Amino acid sequence: MARDVIIFDTTLRDGEQAPGNAMSPEGKLRLARQLDALGVDVIEAGFPAASQGDLRGVQQVAETVRRPVIAALARCHDRDIAAAAEALQGAQRKRIHVFIATSDLHLEQKLRIDRAACIERVRAAVRQAKGFTPDVEFSAEDATRSDFDFLARVVLVAITEGATTINLPDTVGYTTPAEYAALFRTIRERVPEAANVVLSAHCHDDLGLAVANSLAAIEAGAGQVECTINGIGERAGNAALEEIVMAGRTRPQVVAFQCQVNPREIVRTSRMLSLEIGVFPQPNKAIVGRNAFAHEAGIHQHGMLQNGLTYEIIAPETVGAGGSSIVLGKHSGRHALERRYRELGYEPDATTLEQLYEAFTALADKKRQILDEDLLTLLHEGFHQAPEVYNLISLRVTCGTETATAEVRLAGPGFHERSASATGNGPIAAAFAAVGEALGRTIEVLDLSVQSVTPGRDSLGRVVLQVRIDGKSLSGHGASTDIVEAGARALVHALNKADHADGLETMALGSSYYWGV
Ligand code: MN
Repeated sequence: MARDVIIFDTTLRDGEQAPGNAMSPEGKLRLARQLDALGVDVIEAGFPAASQGDLRGVQQVAETVRRPVIAALARCHDRDIAAAAEALQGAQRKRIHVFIATSDLHLEQKLRIDRAACIERVRAAVRQAKGFTPDVEFSAEDATRSDFDFLARVVLVAITEGATTINLPDTVGYTTPAEYAALFRTIRERVPEAANVVLSAHCHDDLGLAVANSLAAIEAGAGQVECTINGIGERAGNAALEEIVMAGRTRPQVVAFQCQVNPREIVRTSRMLSLEIGVFPQPNKAIVGRNAFAHEAGIHQHGMLQNGLTYEIIAPETVGAGGSSIVLGKHSGRHALERRYRELGYEPDATTLEQLYEAFTALADKKRQILDEDLLTLLHEGFHQAPEVYNLISLRVTCGTETATAEVRLAGPGFHERSASATGNGPIAAAFAAVGEALGRTIEVLDLSVQSVTPGRDSLGRVVLQVRIDGKSLSGHGASTDIVEAGARALVHALNKADHADGLETMALGSSYYWGV
């Protein structure tokens, strides 16, 4: 019989820390609710000791999302554990997740402590965490590059002090499936007490092996896997939740485990995350990429028409990837709009709904059929990108055979309205120069791409942007039926994320120190 495996989602913690993935507190909460609907067992909501913002973010999730266990990360320090406990106070089910590095490299170079001191910290930290909640996870950071004898000793101490989950993370994405499986077997062999706790896998994709390693760990006895939606995360990312779950469902005879995730919520969750962070999976990404279910070659299409099974191992509906349906048009009312948003997993309040309805009717004037993608785009890219610091009031651009000129008006904190005009070698360049001029900020475009949100000539265009604002890398996205306006909105989106990103960057300065696991 297939074993139950606990799905531990760390999109809101490990996922958020990667460059450009900053989320608004409101977006975090919305995603946490969706992760609940998806059916994950544990949501790691953040790292409360890292900043006041992170503490509040975890608090909000803990107070709102009731079914899953809410986990908060902490180093093996009094202050960190106290902050995690404080953030989790309102949770129905709470877990404190403490970690410390166990590889000699990290102990010597980073923590500058010896093995004996490491053991003492583990002992004290697990004991302290245990005073706040019976559910304590311990992670041996850089487990895959640790001496196995020492690792086994650390694991035993953590279990003796009451840790209920032991995580053996491949922090740097260094291991391979056979080697990672051997690590789990070794620990089970050398620490018989491990039979009474849950062993957990946490993999990074530096060698493109994160999912393969996670599956190998499950086979070798791991009872929990830590993963993220779309595989977002530090560097090359974490193991992708959707890939692990669908491997188990598609090959139950080979990858024998089961979990509580409802696969029909996968695409919706993926899309919600992409829209929140403005980073979209590459088109060929497994399960959630735009082309994951596209069949282009004639011979494949012929086979598909005869029988879907010829070239399709997963029916798109299974993961909620049904084609975008035509839902609304110019004459649809507020109720229809509200109902559709609820069906898509959102619960806009009255004020938001009123704003959405206004944006919807404006769009319906420009575009005949409004599809689900359009509605999601309106919600995330129209005005709903809290914290809304800057607002684009208006934009006027002239371009053609002469130098492009743009005039913008922006509103923001401490000023009612500010306007500027600038020129550029194209309409987007001119618009960006004008925004930079109005706000007195240096803007450097690193990457800009235009996508159509839905098919058709009257489609919404989405601009996805990587920019450096005053030296900081940020991503932004914006949509409009006019791509120049979409570009300006993308830039304003990036500007709106700048403050939150400042905080994240401060944390990232001590990157390996703070964000170990
Ligand atoms: Mn990690």
